[in-house]
Amino acid sequence: MTGLVCPQCSSQYPLTNKHGKVSNIYCDTDFRKLRAAYDLGLVAKDIRKEKIQNRPEDIWRYLELMPIAGDKRPETATSTGFTPLKRADKLAEFLGVGELYLKDDTVNPTGSFKDRGVDVAVARAKELGYETMACVSTGNLAKSTAAYAQKAGMKAYIFVPANLEDAKIAEISQYGANVIRINGSYDDVNLLGGEIAKSHPEIAFVNINFRPYYGDGSKTMGFEIIEQLGWRAPADIVVPIGGALLTTKIGQALDEFYSVGLIEKPNTRIHGVQAEGCSPVADAVINKDNDGKKHDFITPVTPNTTVSSIAIGNPSNGLDALHVIRNSGGYAATASNEDIESCIGLLEKEGVDSEDVGRVVLGAAKKLVKEGRIPGNEGPVVLLMTGHKHKAPYANDYLNNLIDPIDPRLEQFEKIYNKGLEERVS
Ligand SMILES: *Cc1c(COP(=O)(O)O)cnc(C)c1O
Repeated sequence: MTGLVCPQCSSQYPLTNKHGKVSNIYCDTDFRKLRAAYDLGLVAKDIRKEKIQNRPEDIWRYLELMPIAGDKRPETATSTGFTPLKRADKLAEFLGVGELYLKDDTVNPTGSFKDRGVDVAVARAKELGYETMACVSTGNLAKSTAAYAQKAGMKAYIFVPANLEDAKIAEISQYGANVIRINGSYDDVNLLGGEIAKSHPEIAFVNINFRPYYGDGSKTMGFEIIEQLGWRAPADIVVPIGGALLTTKIGQALDEFYSVGLIEKPNTRIHGVQAEGCSPVADAVINKDNDGKKHDFITPVTPNTTVSSIAIGNPSNGLDALHVIRNSGGYAATASNEDIESCIGLLEKEGVDSEDVGRVVLGAAKKLVKEGRIPGNEGPVVLLMTGHKHKAPYANDYLNNLIDPIDPRLEQFEKIYNKGLEERVS
């Protein structure tokens, strides 16, 4: 890792400021979110399939392409990733394709692919001497951040909308984090998170100031698929879209493995799928202007779907994802409630215990095959299974000990945070 880079103008930024903290989040010129940059030429000289294969089976086997400064597997590594790529012949028949696989990230330590990015963010935060992790989330990221921070012996502040389901809040609270419920929508929570990140540079916000590191954790899902297919890129990958970071990182994974000489030039079509009622990226792929031109913008929407893990109306990486999908020759589709219901029980037949997002992926993939967007006879088709069903058996034990909800105002957070500091000192 050589620094941070703007995806638009390629301006380079240093990794840390003079205080040794992460500094830039956005490009000064384009205001695009920065990502980690690597010297791929240097990595190419050194990286070998055999070397990777001899390492432990988790995300850190791709060490040379991971966004940390150290050249060793970090001490906080948490056996994240290297999840099964399950051959799914029954579903192949259902979809009408030859060779189908489910990449089963429901079996990650806290049940979703978010663990990949959080494992990396925690390692990077430790490396820079941070003691406190945080995130804004409506569920899976919250649970992952709470769990990994606890395991690394760090404090955690988890910001969620106050109306989040009890089951999710209880799941998050199991990991001893400070769960801060905010009276407001996810957008309000997100705005407050941005303000806190600015006035508290000592906090490592997974999806704000640590976004470049967190994001690259998701690349490993793409690396693993390629390795598990015998160092072969699939013909088609179907990716569910929320904030759209995963879609862009699947594209980056394919590019990087090619650039460092691990695979032939890939021809993988990357397809993005969303739930009907919250499909700003899929709409941008599918829609054209009146004069027939393709859209090159994302129109934010107010989410109206029960598939909460991907209910993001204004995806942070929406435009990047649109470009990745288009440049790959992929397409997009949405799944309606009927599509989702028609897929109930099907993933279970292949041994995957997914939340509804998996059924959005399957339902939308069915459409993509029918429309000929996935030919189905050109090589492996991979569906990403990103999150496990939610379950909170001991909810009441946790719900009784919560901090009271606050309004989305910095000074209200300060009161809770300062109290936390006093407790730590005493
Ligand atoms: C976060 C999430 C997604 C979407 O990933 P993005 O990078 O936000 O697009 C998909 N599925 C599950 C289960 C998630 O938790």
